[in-house]
Amino acid sequence: MGFLIVNRISLPVGAPEGEALSLARRRLSSLGVPTRGLSFSVYRRSVDARRKKDIRFLYSVAVTGEMPTVSDARLAAADIARATDPVLPEPVGTEPLFHPPVIVGSGPAGLFAALLLAEHGYAPVVLERGGSVAERRRAVAAFSGTHLLDPETNIQFGAGGAGTFSDGKLITRVNDPLCRYVLSRFTEFGAPEEILTLAKPHIGTDILSLVVERILDRIVALGGEVHYHTKFLSCRTAGERLVGVLTDRGEI
Ligand SMILES: Cc1cc2nc3c(=O)[nH]c(=O)nc-3n(C[C@H](O)[C@H](O)[C@H](O)COP(=O)(O)OP(=O)(O)OC[C@H]3O[C@@H](n4cnc5c(N)ncnc54)[C@H](O)[C@@H]3O)c2cc1C
Repeated sequence: MGFLIVNRISLPVGAPEGEALSLARRRLSSLGVPTRGLSFSVYRRSVDARRKKDIRFLYSVAVTGEMPTVSDARLAAADIARATDPVLPEPVGTEPLFHPPVIVGSGPAGLFAALLLAEHGYAPVVLERGGSVAERRRAVAAFSGTHLLDPETNIQFGAGGAGTFSDGKLITRVNDPLCRYVLSRFTEFGAPEEILTLAKPHIGTDILSLVVERILDRIVALGGEVHYHTKFLSCRTAGERLVGVLTDRGEI
């Protein structure tokens, strides 16, 4: 769905957020746009610390509702941009799968792939060489004390991959509308709502590991399977067909 983003609303730190919304409304009104019936919400907030004696918050405000018929050039001149919500590809194919999709690794990439497959009815099998989040917490604590590395369950390997014990800085230089989709899914699984608006969201390891556990629980609740301590070794093929997946615990 289309919406507008009113950019560059500068306010002193401590000014109520509502002021940013009022200024956005006023800016649209100044273009002759009737603003009754439109909804205003904070889209992003960053810190402008270029002048040390006057540190400010820079807001972008999202405007939803019936979109005004103002030319893009006039909007741009007022620092207002048009935007659209990301559209996820619809599931393709109508034939049922006879074998579940197999995902190797439960890092951020595998986790989201498994979540979306599970939500679209293709209950996946996730193979993870390391242990669960709880096992990883114990292994990481033990490593700090003894310096003895468990080569399979550690700060890199196990549920959630390297993401679980990362700093939880949710920033990227990739400018893709799906980034916002990922953040919104994080909030659904326990991350604070502020990550949707802060320019540099940072949730820390404690919340991140909780989010990872909840995503894995959802995958399982939707019929998926997560096999810990199961290392993918190779694929078995017959001609061009994949007929088996070999792991260190046997073939699936
Ligand atoms: C200390 C640290 C801090 C970080 N901080 C941040 C941060 O703040 N913000 C940020 O955006 N990024 C951060 N990163 C980077 C981020 O964690 C990675 O970019 C991200 O985890 C990569 O995701 P991935 O799914 O591609 O791979 P991985 O997270 O590496 O996941 C791969 C998974 O596959 C499993 N696996 C591997 N081989 C096999 C096999 N043969 N069979 C079965 N399972 C297997 C592994 O055990 C692992 O769980 C940090 C990384 C580290 C190490």
